[in-house]
Amino acid sequence: MKRLKLAIQKSGRLSEQSKQLLKDCGIKIQNGKNALRVSATNFPIDLFYLRDDDIPQYVQDGIADIGIVGENVLLEKNSRCEILQKLGFAKCRLSLAIPKNIDYQGVEYFKNKKIATSYPVILSDFLSKNNVTSEIHEISGSVEIAPNIGLAEAICDLVSTGSTLFSNGLKEVEQVLKSEAVIIGNPNISDAQKEILEKLIF
Ligand code: ATP
Ligand code: ZN
Repeated sequence: MKRLKLAIQKSGRLSEQSKQLLKDCGIKIQNGKNALRVSATNFPIDLFYLRDDDIPQYVQDGIADIGIVGENVLLEKNSRCEILQKLGFAKCRLSLAIPKNIDYQGVEYFKNKKIATSYPVILSDFLSKNNVTSEIHEISGSVEIAPNIGLAEAICDLVSTGSTLFSNGLKEVEQVLKSEAVIIGNPNISDAQKEILEKLIF
């Protein structure tokens, strides 16, 4: 029987709840600590553990049939995967933040400013929709310290409670995107795989 290949984040904010979701579906997986690929023992599903950033590409290329990622990653990667199901966890927003002592008047503030982010695609889309040209500086992590070390005048980063921003002397001034975890799928999966997927989603 054809098996359904599912990609989930190896370790990070999505991992535990992705695995819990499978458990709740009654799917038994061995806990091979470092295996990147494991098979479910009681359901025709194989799991791939990957970095979340790579999941849309794997699904688009058909290496995996479906995957669990944040909508933010899906959009940033401009991927041609479909959203099959919203999952309601890992809710967060992608927001612009600036030093908290600045008197913020509106999005024009960002004109010609240097903004650090891990989401250059989503950010430049937002800025051009607002007719603002800024200098986007892409960094892969610890974005919130960029203003403190003189790397940028603003940041665009994921926020849930806002406590990280606060403790770095920043305040959220524009919401660029709302995000949660979603199941994405390759549009070309076979009927047999669709059947497994429907059982899973059910
Ligand atoms: P990887 O090593 O797999 O690349 P990562 O460091 O890029 O991991 P995580 O920090 O584990 O990613 O975040 C994974 C996803 O969880 C994000 O893409 C986003 O959808 C969601 N997320 C990120 N930050 C928060 C937050 N503060 N609150 C809630 N969800 C978040
Ligand atoms: Zn990542």
